[in-house]
Amino acid sequence: MVQKYWQNCHKEVRVKLKYLVLLFLFVVTTVSLAAPINKLQDVRVWPSPDKYRVVFDLTQQPKFSYFTLQHSDRLVIDFERSKLATTLSKLKFSGRLVKKIRTSKAPKKGMMRIVIELTQAIEPRIFSLPPTGPYGDRLVIDFVKKSSISASTKIKKTVKTSADKKSQNRDIVIAIDAGHGGEDPGSIGASGRYEKHITLGIAKLLAKKINNTPGLKAVLTRKSDYYVGLNRRSEIARKAKTDLLVSIHADAFTSPKPSGASVLVLSMKRANTEIGRFLEKQERYSELLGGVGEIIDSSENEKYLARTLIDMSMGNSMEESYEIGDDILARLKQITNVHNDKLILASLAVLKSPDFPSLMVETGFVSNPQDERKLYNTAHRKKLATAIYLAINQYFKKNPPSGSLYANQRSLIHKVKRGESLSVVAQRYHISITALKKHNALRSNNLRIGQVLKIPLS
Ligand SMILES: [Zn+2]
Repeated sequence: MVQKYWQNCHKEVRVKLKYLVLLFLFVVTTVSLAAPINKLQDVRVWPSPDKYRVVFDLTQQPKFSYFTLQHSDRLVIDFERSKLATTLSKLKFSGRLVKKIRTSKAPKKGMMRIVIELTQAIEPRIFSLPPTGPYGDRLVIDFVKKSSISASTKIKKTVKTSADKKSQNRDIVIAIDAGHGGEDPGSIGASGRYEKHITLGIAKLLAKKINNTPGLKAVLTRKSDYYVGLNRRSEIARKAKTDLLVSIHADAFTSPKPSGASVLVLSMKRANTEIGRFLEKQERYSELLGGVGEIIDSSENEKYLARTLIDMSMGNSMEESYEIGDDILARLKQITNVHNDKLILASLAVLKSPDFPSLMVETGFVSNPQDERKLYNTAHRKKLATAIYLAINQYFKKNPPSGSLYANQRSLIHKVKRGESLSVVAQRYHISITALKKHNALRSNNLRIGQVLKIPLS
């Protein structure tokens, strides 16, 4: 009897188990048949002089559609089978283009709708990026600033800022890196002279030109004949909050034939590989963190920062390097022969800082007797320094970093106050009365209170 009871009981349990297993299999199959939900894990924003980039970090390749609202000052993106796995409210914007990023009611169940509110109507460029190196699937939105953005709004904004924060008239910092030094002579010339002396000589001439320009400041990675490690050179530049690093060298070859100057910039392909290794080397992060940590909220974790740097800055700083490099090369062609007609792409340690553009100028071949002679000629060195200086100055005049004197000068207007004469205004901005009159097409010397004057670029 007891035994029979147990047998029945077993049978019942067995049946129940059978159903449970079937139910379990059913659930598992149903869930796995549908694609897993794409999770929006992080949102990163990066403003730059000509572009504002928003990056969505996702767990899968996004399937999305988008449209713009209200004269395109609002971008709406619908992600299929996605959900938010981060908080958007913590995001901070520097306020120039993107006001807010928020969720909104999705048009369909299971979808995720993200709204990007902008301060002005601007057409987005949207594209997804596959996983590479340290990051996964991404959706990138670039808001590229149009040059047609009305000059008056720009001016008003700048004047307001410059009035609020006069200290914002900062110098644009140019790090000048004289190659080699100390026990490292660099290339040895045809007549036995050293590259390190040439590089320092030209670097100092360039620094002088830069320091004589209000709004620009030079920082030398080495000031005399001593050795500085490659990483240390970038570190010095970063600590000085540099906007650009120019490394000066003079090549040598096994034969005396090659001659001429060249300009080198970092190659994207090599850089990506190097960046992978770079990321693995945790100790290098800390150097980087010290330099750019201020830009991003210090509460953000290292991973965020590293990814932001690599993802956002590298592309920007490389574009800048290419633009400045092209101009340096064009100007060098006017004063000397060039070894390469185009920029040389290379993966050199001194070019690898992701947080500022870097380029290398090979001023000539010391192994070539003519080049060596020229490189020891002060007049020729001055010409080289001037060519590099003009390209740098031209670039920053055109693309002044925000907060710099150049940026504020670029779009400065002055409203005449009681008691102000033309000479007072001219003096204040260190320009001549003639320049001020010409720039504003003034026929008389009389000013009226409230009159708006445009201050010319110096
Ligand atoms: Zn060298």
